Amino acid sequence: MSCIFCKIISGEIPSKKVYEDESVYAFYDIQPMAPVHVLIVPKTHIASVNEVTSENSAVIAHIYEVAAQLAKELGVAESGYRIVSNCGANAGQTVFHLHFHLLGGQPLKTDMC
Ligand code: 5GP
Ligand code: ZN
Repeated sequence: MSCIFCKIISGEIPSKKVYEDESVYAFYDIQPMAPVHVLIVPKTHIASVNEVTSENSAVIAHIYEVAAQLAKELGVAESGYRIVSNCGANAGQTVFHLHFHLLGGQPLKTDMC
């Protein structure tokens, strides 16, 4: 199993954890692009949004619940934040384990592409 985020979830690779439950793991991005930059991932290996189906999509709704909670805890709920999931080459996805960037703590650029 060569997936870097699976290794982070299992503890084989260290990370700065901000949240964990039975289906979701969240940790600080190693190369933050904003004062708050957290990655929220399902514990099950899903490669990207392309792999989301009716069988595994419940965890996505749960990830958004976790995101709302973390935004409050990290102090960006009121100031605002962005949640991003890059899918595939044109979006610049580099890790093929589904993840949601939670970015905030400063005004973010508004050009989306
Ligand atoms: P993507 O480019 O696939 O949307 O996002 C992958 C993110 O994972 C990048 O922001 C990158 O900095 C982060 N990342 C890659 N390897 C590691 C790692 O080993 N630890 C942590 N905490 N983040 C990582
Ligand atoms: Zn994985």
